[in-house]
Formats: sequence, C-alpha cells, structure tokens
Amino acid sequence: MKICPECKDVIMYCKCMEEMEEQSQKDILDKLIKFVDDNSFIHPVTIKWFDLYSRILTNPKSIENNSNDGNIVVSYGNSRPKIPSIRFTGPLLIRLSVFKEHINHAYEIGKIREVDKYLRNLKDDQWVKF
Ligand SMILES: [Zn+2]
Repeated sequence: MKICPECKDVIMYCKCMEEMEEQSQKDILDKLIKFVDDNSFIHPVTIKWFDLYSRILTNPKSIENNSNDGNIVVSYGNSRPKIPSIRFTGPLLIRLSVFKEHINHAYEIGKIREVDKYLRNLKDDQWVKF
C-alpha cells in the first residue's frame, strides 16, 4: 500500500491527487482566458469556432461534413446543448462573452485541456480580433 506524502492517508482514499488535478484544470482555464484577453481575441473564425463547439464542447447526435461547400452540419436531435449558440453577428463584446461561456463550459465538463490545446494551436489568422 502506498501512503500519500501530503495527507499520510492510503493513496486509495486520499483526495490530494484529485484536488491537484482540479487545481491544475482551473489553472489552465484562468491562463486560457488571459491568453484570449492578452491577444485581443474575440472568438475563432467561423469554421473553427463551429468545429470547437460541435466536436469538443457538446455531444451532438450527428456531425456531417458537407464536401460540396465545406460546411459542417450538426444535429442535436431532441437534446439541445446547455450553452449559448455561436454568434457571428452582433456586438463584439456579446460574441466575446458567448465564447468565454463556451470556455467555461469546457472546464465544467472536464474538457479544458482539449480546448486549451485546440485554441492555442490556432494560427493568428484563425481568430477574430478587436
Ligand atoms: Zn493525500
């Protein structure tokens, strides 16, 4: 049996690793929000935001790539996502706040690492900026 160096409890029962994991995910969230703000990003370009929304943030019923026009068609059936829809029109600040809600949602569903990686791999011209 292994003993945790932090709480001296048996590893099987201690929560230290879980808490550390939780902490580091919160850390990723905070740094990602700062990354977006520091770069004056508003949200990813249409296709990338849609990709993020459909593949990472939610579990749609089906995703179809339309090879004719390159659009992704996402179907949720009867279960609509709990997060606000993507907005490509309207005031920039509202679009930014919707995007940040999506980032927070990713954290809540335990996908912040994936989203962090996805967003940091976007090129500069794949962002809409202030
Ligand atoms: Zn422990």
